Amino acid sequence: MCSITSNVPSKFYNLCRLCLSCPVLEDNQCKDAKLERIFDDVEERNIPRKIMTCLSIMVKDDDQLPQVICIRCSEQLDVLYGFKETAKKAEILLHQFLMCMKELEGTTQKKQQIPKLNLKLLKSNVRTTRKKNLQ
Ligand SMILES: [Zn+2]
Repeated sequence: MCSITSNVPSKFYNLCRLCLSCPVLEDNQCKDAKLERIFDDVEERNIPRKIMTCLSIMVKDDDQLPQVICIRCSEQLDVLYGFKETAKKAEILLHQFLMCMKELEGTTQKKQQIPKLNLKLLKSNVRTTRKKNLQ
């Protein structure tokens, strides 16, 4: 941390980086409002990457801005990130499906059977992604 931060009131660092709420001070009204550290050691959370991916905001551990987000924002970020991943995966599978169909063109296989099978696969894949991201 840089020395410039010495004049900044500590409240500043308890503000949610994403919505500026201050759950620590508002705790009397909202008991389950908590803050989550952006740069937690738990690598799976990957909050900085999620913020960058979903919100195009670069968060650095030495940028002298609040290093916490509130639980509400954290949940929204997870939902948004999950949705983005699902949509991305759907896009890939749709392209794969289309390519598969194009490859089948001109072959003697019955075209009605193959699309049904692949669409089933597509749907189950998207569902799996959604489920995984909600955990
Ligand atoms: Zn927030």
